[in-house]
Amino acid sequence: MKDQTTFRCKSSQCPHCRKQLDAATLVTSVGGKAPKTGDFTVCLYCAEVLRWRSGGHLTLLSEKERAHVAASDPLTFFLLLQVQNAAAMRIVRGRKKRVRESKAEQC
Ligand SMILES: [Zn+2]
Repeated sequence: MKDQTTFRCKSSQCPHCRKQLDAATLVTSVGGKAPKTGDFTVCLYCAEVLRWRSGGHLTLLSEKERAHVAASDPLTFFLLLQVQNAAAMRIVRGRKKRVRESKAEQC
């Protein structure tokens, strides 16, 4: 995606994979502001959809929240699914690359 802006954020732990996250990249150029409480994000280490909470903490998106977003804001929900899919693909490509490199070292 073009026109992406990355913001440094207060370091917060992904509640799913426990990696420390300290940056967020906007997937749209709308607003161009740093993430705020209530915004969504996708962890690039595990592809889980998260939500920014007060104090810069991240929480998993509950099934109730997921259903609410899907019903009330389908465009945002679709965008979240796209970003989640892109993150998952990035993770898979990284794993395949590490396997290839590991096999090359063994030769
Ligand atoms: Zn994660």
